[in-house]
Amino acid sequence: GSTIGIIGGGQLGRMLAISAARLGYRTVVLEPQADCPAAQVANRQITAAYDDPAGLAELAASSSVVTYEFENVPVAAASALAAKIPVYPPALALEVAQDRVGEKTFLNGIGIATADFHAVDTDDQLTAALKAFDGSGILKTRRMGYDGKGQRVFRNMEAGGFAGTCEAMGNVPLILESFVPFEREISVIAARGLDGAVGAYDPAENVHRNGILHTSTLPAAIMPETAQAARTAASKILSALNYVGVIGVEFFVLADGSLLANEIAPRVHNSGHWTEAACIVSQFEQHIRAVAGLPLGSPDRHSDCVMENLIGDDVLRVPALLAEPDLMLHLYGKAEARPGRKMGHFTRIKAIPGKV
Ligand code: ATP
Ligand code: MG
Ligand code: MG
Repeated sequence: GSTIGIIGGGQLGRMLAISAARLGYRTVVLEPQADCPAAQVANRQITAAYDDPAGLAELAASSSVVTYEFENVPVAAASALAAKIPVYPPALALEVAQDRVGEKTFLNGIGIATADFHAVDTDDQLTAALKAFDGSGILKTRRMGYDGKGQRVFRNMEAGGFAGTCEAMGNVPLILESFVPFEREISVIAARGLDGAVGAYDPAENVHRNGILHTSTLPAAIMPETAQAARTAASKILSALNYVGVIGVEFFVLADGSLLANEIAPRVHNSGHWTEAACIVSQFEQHIRAVAGLPLGSPDRHSDCVMENLIGDDVLRVPALLAEPDLMLHLYGKAEARPGRKMGHFTRIKAIPGKV
C-alpha cells in the first residue's frame, strides 16, 4: 500500500490524514511537537524538526509522496526531499508564497492585480513609501506572518515621525501595501491534478475578526463575472506554478466588482473547510487525490452554508452546537484552549435541496 508523508502536524494535516485514510492510504507526519492534532489520526509521527536531515530522510524512506500543511516549510527541506521522491505542491510554490514581495511580483507578472506595494527595510523607506500612498497603508513582515500577526495599519498619517518602526517590527524585511478599500473579501480554493486537470470550488465570502478568519459564507454576495474572474486567476496561478494539489487564493473585491489578489496559500485553506459539509469531495480529499495522482473529484457545491471557526473559548459553545441537527462540527483534538488558538470549526448547512 501507499503511504503519504505530511510535513506539519496541525489541524490541516489532521484533516488531510483523515481524508487519506478514507481513500485507503497510510500517513506519516513530520512534526516536532508530540501528540499534535495530525499525529492523533495519522498512522505514524516522525518527531523531528521540519529541516532535520534524519527526520527528512526517514520521511522520504517511508513515503511514496510527500505533501505539507503549512506554507513555511523550509524550501531547502522540500527541495532536498524532491530529489528523492515526489513532493507536491512543488517547492517553487513554497518559495513564492513565503515572501509577500516575491508573491505579489509573481502575481503581477502573470497579469493578476494586487495592492501596490513597496519593500521596506528602513524607517526612511517607510516614510517615503507612506508618502507615496498618501499616508495610508498596511505594513507587514514579508515572511512568516499569519492570522494578521506582524502587521501594522497606518491611516491618513503625515509622512514622518516613523523612527523606530522597523525596530519595533523586529528588524526583519517588511512590505508596505497600499490600503485597499475593499467591499468584501473572498477566496477561491482550487486544485490541479497530476494530469493538469483543474477544478475550482465556488468563491467563499470571508469575514475576519481580530485578524483571524471568523466565517466563510457560500454563496458569496458577488456578481457572476467576479466569481469567474476569481476562478480564472486561481487557474492561471496553478498553471504558472506547474502545481499539483490544492491552493487557496485570497482576494479583495472592490466596489466595481473588480479583484485584487491578497495572498496565496499553497495548501488546503481555512476558508475551504466548508467543502467537507457542502461538497461531495472536500478540499482535503481533493488534495490527497491530486498528490496521489488520482483523478480530481467534483468541486460542485450541493448546499448553501456558513463555516465558522471556534477560536479559544469558543469551544464552550460545543454542547449548544451539537444540539443543532443541520450542523457539521469538526474539532481538532487540542487539549488547551488558548486565546487566538483554532480549536475547531463548524458548518451550518442552509437550504438543503429537497429537505422540508
Ligand atoms: P492569513 O491568516 O490569511 O494567512 P495573514 O497574516 O497572512 O493572514 P493577510 O491575509 O495579508 O494576513 O491580512 C489579513 C487581513 O488584513 C486581510 O484578510 C484583510 O482583511 C486585511 N488586509 C490585509 N492587507 C490589506 C490591504 N492591503 N488593504 C486592506 N486590508 C488588508
Ligand atoms: Mg497569510
Ligand atoms: Mg490572509
